Amino acid sequence: MEKYIYSFAEGKKEMKQLLGGKGANLAEMKRLGLPVPDGFTLTTTCCLAYYENGKVFPDTLGTTIAESLKTLEQQTHKGFRSLEAPLLISVRSGSVRSMPGMMDTILNIGLNGDTVKMLASQTGDKRFAYDCYRRLIQMFGNVVYSIPAEAFEIVLTHLKEQRGIQLDTELTGDDLHSLTIEYQHIFRQKTGRRFPQDPMQQLLLATQAVFNSWYNPRAITYRQLNNIDEHLGTAVTIQEMVFGNNGTDSGTGVCFTRNPSNGEKKLYGEFLLNAQGEDVVAGIRTPQPISDLAVTMPTIYAEFERCAALLEQHYQEMQDIEFTIDNGQLYFLQTRNGKRTASAAIQILMDFLAEGLLTKEEVVDKVTFDMMEQALHPSFSEEELAEHSPFAIGLPASPGAAVGRIYFSAEAAQLASENDEAVILVRQETSPEDITGMIVSEAIITSRGGMTSHAAVVARGMGTPCVAGCHDLIINAEKQTLTHPSGQLKEGDWLAVDGSSGKIYTHVFELTQTAITPAFEQLMVLLTDMSDIDVRANADTATDLQTALSFGATGVGLTRTEHMFFAPERLIEMRRLILADTATAREIPLNKLQHFQTSDFEELFRCANERPLTIRLLDPPYHEFLPHDISEKNALAKALSISKTQLDQRLSELQESNPMMGHRGIRLAMSYPEIYKMQVTAIINSALVLEDEGLTVIPEIMIPLVGSVTELKWMRHYLETAITELLVEKNSHLTYKIGTMIEIPRACLTAHEIADTADFFSFGTNDLTQLVYGFSRDDVAKFLPLYLEKGLLPHDPFQTIDIDGVGQLMKQAITLAKKAQPQLKIGVCGELGGDPESVAYFHSIGVDYVSCSPFRVPLAKLALAKASIEAETFIVI
Ligand code: PEP
Ligand code: MG
Repeated sequence: MEKYIYSFAEGKKEMKQLLGGKGANLAEMKRLGLPVPDGFTLTTTCCLAYYENGKVFPDTLGTTIAESLKTLEQQTHKGFRSLEAPLLISVRSGSVRSMPGMMDTILNIGLNGDTVKMLASQTGDKRFAYDCYRRLIQMFGNVVYSIPAEAFEIVLTHLKEQRGIQLDTELTGDDLHSLTIEYQHIFRQKTGRRFPQDPMQQLLLATQAVFNSWYNPRAITYRQLNNIDEHLGTAVTIQEMVFGNNGTDSGTGVCFTRNPSNGEKKLYGEFLLNAQGEDVVAGIRTPQPISDLAVTMPTIYAEFERCAALLEQHYQEMQDIEFTIDNGQLYFLQTRNGKRTASAAIQILMDFLAEGLLTKEEVVDKVTFDMMEQALHPSFSEEELAEHSPFAIGLPASPGAAVGRIYFSAEAAQLASENDEAVILVRQETSPEDITGMIVSEAIITSRGGMTSHAAVVARGMGTPCVAGCHDLIINAEKQTLTHPSGQLKEGDWLAVDGSSGKIYTHVFELTQTAITPAFEQLMVLLTDMSDIDVRANADTATDLQTALSFGATGVGLTRTEHMFFAPERLIEMRRLILADTATAREIPLNKLQHFQTSDFEELFRCANERPLTIRLLDPPYHEFLPHDISEKNALAKALSISKTQLDQRLSELQESNPMMGHRGIRLAMSYPEIYKMQVTAIINSALVLEDEGLTVIPEIMIPLVGSVTELKWMRHYLETAITELLVEKNSHLTYKIGTMIEIPRACLTAHEIADTADFFSFGTNDLTQLVYGFSRDDVAKFLPLYLEKGLLPHDPFQTIDIDGVGQLMKQAITLAKKAQPQLKIGVCGELGGDPESVAYFHSIGVDYVSCSPFRVPLAKLALAKASIEAETFIVI
């Protein structure tokens, strides 16, 4: 026969599934020797059986409850129906996952016309006895028979007005006595029956009502919003009452063991003297801060502090405690892991580490990726989000949240930002021309493009929230409208963007702000200590690099040089270069670009300060750099002093059917090697400047889109010749490396050949995924949602590694390459280098480092620390 009731002595914290959080933790506190009133718990399986039975108790339950009550009577030396020493009990809900305030609780069960008199005479406190009784009638009426609480409250308020008093505590025993009579009238009026006088009947009805509260509307909604399984059911805990309303040396309160906002090690809570639990919630009287208890009841406070510390040590988490003081005696009525902000959680974990409460490994285990994201980026409150449906949904391209007014062009965004407006830039897709608008925007939305689109990559680099590929949006930049099946918006309308979920809202949410705290920095140091491979950053500017270094990046794994030409005065030269059709025409822009590049690299080398810096030579997909609409073309023709016809002619020559698989990367340099020559000249010259200053700089020059060793050999020879000439001329022995990106399937399959010609490898998982799957990086958003919806893909492979396909190919390439060149350094610099799940996989296949955008460095570090610990544990076993 299934066991449906467990006494506190039989329970423990691990039995949460069966006893609910409250029941399991009460039993655990009892085991720890804390002052907890005795009791027992009806299991969640009992609740499920009740529902399966058509809301009827399992057959034997009545008898088992009676037996458990008998034991409770023995433990408490009181009797449930006794007049001499009446046992009063509480009936409390308690689910497996915390659902605060969503289900019901009834206190003071066991009181009736006789026992209340007994209680009054025993305690000599009529006020107290009738206060308990009026509370019981109200709670019972409300929970069991759905009598609105106001029906009772009106009478109470009226009585206080008659007496000319403000506080419930000022009512006399006689007042409260008369109130219980009135309450019983209300009860009878509303239910057509007398308030039950039999304690056992009260108990059974109360238990049934608490089971029923599992399906009350607010509990159902809460479960839906918080993804709580409705088949878990609730447990019911039946416990001897202790009374916080038992005079002025009694009280009740709630307390966190640390400050839940910032994690400060200080009790944080409040209490009310002479009150029962619901008074704190009802806000009738203003509770006092817990620190006041140290003054009014120093012994109790000291005891509370001792027990709170004990609970923290035991649970190794900040605790959220409910307590009652009954006649100078402290009781604990609940403890659970407290909800806290992400930065508080990190502060607490680092403090626990310092206090010796947790080991480094345990801290790493307890830090979650969500916690890290929330500590790094502003977010909307979950409660508020739950109340609003999104206007549209796209890809969660760059995390964080923002609210602002929508603008449809970089210029409009800039203008609005100059007027101190918070701007959300809305574009079909972004291009380098939009950079000025992107920089001033709080968030970016695009209707096209995937997780590795221009908008996604750039926004992530800047730490700006971005929702990309929101393909249901029709953006009309000319009319300045944004249309979606759920409505139309125009320039200047407000939107809230959640880049972490990919959801866009028309409601203007409050933002939870973040700050990088000293504890966060300590955590970064710990994670570095705990991981056995490095995290570098994808950084195109010294500012990006600075951010990444502050998170503990060990160098730069990818500088996309084409991203250095986004500023208008550079973009024009870049375009002049692409559009030039002769070597002579290329000379002028090349010289200008070399000038820009040299000073940029110098700045980067200086900021990297002897850390490795991998600079990737130019890889500009043409379509990202050439103008699209007429006004852009007109402006460009004017700037280049050529006719529109000439421009159109050249643009049509450059037109590609598949730009992502077209004339880019090393292929472009095969046609125009002087471009790469210019770049390595800039790299070497800037490194020489720093060398002269006494710094050891070892530039890592990276060649993109290599598919065969023949390409790399040719280019390496060409570049080495140019570099040697330069070094001879400057009489320098500067060391440098020439490596390659591995982002074409053929490069993976021939990695052993390529390894002989490369000083290092770096996997470009963006292009590799594109080419292994044959999914265009820029068009994937059109069909990906359907694939996910139909379960054809477990996730977006541009977001999380496709282990079976792309992952296998990488693994094979590493094996081939390391066989040929065991010392070859291998990294990953595609966007997957910042995705925790992917990073753990890269760790397992033996990469030497991962590289990701600055704001993802902490996440990658966490993933690596976790993976390193796991790998170590595995070896030990
Ligand atoms: C890649 O392909 O993964 C990569 C890092 O390069 P890009 O995104 O610039 O093509
Ligand atoms: Mg690439």
